Amino acid sequence: MICVYCGVRFVEKFSFHKLFFQTNELTCSQCISKFKKIIDPVCEICCGYIIENQKLCKNCIEYISLKLEMPLIINKSIFHYTNEIKEWLNKFKFCGDVQLASIFADDLMEYYENSFKNYKIVPIPLSDARLKERGFNQVEVLAQYAGLNLTNCLERIHTEKQSKLNRYERLSREQVFSYCCAEKIDNEPIVLLDDVYTTGKTVQDAATILLQNGATEVHSLTLIRA
Ligand SMILES: [Zn+2]
Ligand SMILES: [Zn+2]
Repeated sequence: MICVYCGVRFVEKFSFHKLFFQTNELTCSQCISKFKKIIDPVCEICCGYIIENQKLCKNCIEYISLKLEMPLIINKSIFHYTNEIKEWLNKFKFCGDVQLASIFADDLMEYYENSFKNYKIVPIPLSDARLKERGFNQVEVLAQYAGLNLTNCLERIHTEKQSKLNRYERLSREQVFSYCCAEKIDNEPIVLLDDVYTTGKTVQDAATILLQNGATEVHSLTLIRA
């Protein structure tokens, strides 16, 4: 086998999981070990860093104490935002090496099965301009490799580049999504899928729209927690 990430030949290990899901191990163990999974205790709401012995992070405690609306119930993330995963994200998302999505296919599927089994999965959409520029929605590619079926029912109404805004500008912006399916959601729980959770503004906005359109509850599954 040739590792999809470093290009080095390696010997494939046997696992029942692979046999059952008929996936091939495409990444060597050395590359896999570069990425830091979130296994330590993190915020029970947003998966962010916590002070020892706390259950929630500073932001979530503040939100609750201010009685601010939190339409999203729980965000689950798989990996910490390290230099190694930043490098992966750069190659995958910005250089367009889409097959690198295969590295995390099993993780995404496992987390979905363990936490959100049978929930409808709604991907965070890109703006038309961004989609044209990049050529693909990285969330859809991740889902495709993981074998997750998506329900595309959101679209973006603003097109400005989020990465160019500072944190305050991002948080203070208006709603960025609209519901774009002819049929409403039929009283179902939804899990939003995104690649990176940063301030939470994106998934909170999307959750608001889904709750207005028939979702009973909204969670999110994000690959990386910044
Ligand atoms: Zn490798
Ligand atoms: Zn939190």
